[in-house]
Amino acid sequence: MINEIEVIKTKNSKINEVDFSNLKFGSVFSDHMLECDFKDGKWQAPKVVPYAPISLDPAAKIFHYGQSVFEGMKAYKDADGNVLLFRPIDNVKRLNISSKRLAIPEIPENYFMDGLKTLLEVDEAWIPTQDGSSLYIRPFVFASGAGFHASPANEYKFIIATAPSGAYFSGEVRVLIEEKYSRSANGGVGYAKAGGNYAGQFYPTQLAIEKGYQQVIWTDDNTHEYIEEAGAMNIFVRINDTLITGPTSDRILDGITRKSIIELAESENINVEVRPLKVAEVVEAAKNGSLKEMFGAGTAAVISPISGFGYKGDDFELPKLEDTYASFLKKRITDIQTNKVEDPFGWRL
Ligand code: PMP
Repeated sequence: MINEIEVIKTKNSKINEVDFSNLKFGSVFSDHMLECDFKDGKWQAPKVVPYAPISLDPAAKIFHYGQSVFEGMKAYKDADGNVLLFRPIDNVKRLNISSKRLAIPEIPENYFMDGLKTLLEVDEAWIPTQDGSSLYIRPFVFASGAGFHASPANEYKFIIATAPSGAYFSGEVRVLIEEKYSRSANGGVGYAKAGGNYAGQFYPTQLAIEKGYQQVIWTDDNTHEYIEEAGAMNIFVRINDTLITGPTSDRILDGITRKSIIELAESENINVEVRPLKVAEVVEAAKNGSLKEMFGAGTAAVISPISGFGYKGDDFELPKLEDTYASFLKKRITDIQTNKVEDPFGWRL
């Protein structure tokens, strides 16, 4: 543990204004946040402070050069009131992988973990216990240092804010397989959780929404022939009884849910193939009836079944199966996350 983390508590808790039985995703914020500044060449002591707007110089480099990275994770409370995290060290490590790519100074792991633990102790009452709800945790780092010179800032802010949240998607998820736009490229920043990666997706996603889809499935920038991932989820496709997902690369986020699903499925003797997956193979499987399921996997979305997809002007429907890998794996992973079953993998913390 680093030296005691200073805690400044709010005098005006908002918790009584929140309807915990009707939570949306990420739209109400808990009373406190962790704040930590990088200046004079090092990270200063993190503090827990009341959740509030922050003041920034208009020349802060985040506004001009988009130097920012973030993470997404969740805290759960089990039936005995224990607060649980799922593979949190993987989030710290990935935040630092992202930071390195954006020339942002890496945060010491203990600043992140001790800061988060203190924040969760202070805002424990904000962790929902309703089925399907959790406390969504958003750690982020951005360039607060000022200057119009296009170069890395010399000051940064690391903040962890939290939001009691329900499901990410409401209703069915139809996806459009992208043929024109790209999310990422070899040698680029696709593997990082950089803010700009998401901004760049909004316009093509809006176009897909106008056509009646909820999400875009990105294809490789070079040929647009291979399935990559969705906006905030990795993608799994079940053909016959085999579960297939693309390999991670420069272009794809190394999802923590994705790698957990691969391990879980293998431990349940489900045949998993991690290999490049052509759109043509999925279209062919949809036509010949061997395409059984498609789903997205991510912290926010957990496992979200896809009901159909569009590609080159055609629409394809997924069958409505009784027993799906998606529902089985979703139950397994959420039972582990919320301490309803043993965790043979050592993922829960
Ligand atoms: N891909 C992208 C682009 C994402 O933003 C996310 C969400 N972090 C994921 C995949 C899923 O990653 P994880 O399971 O670690 O949340």
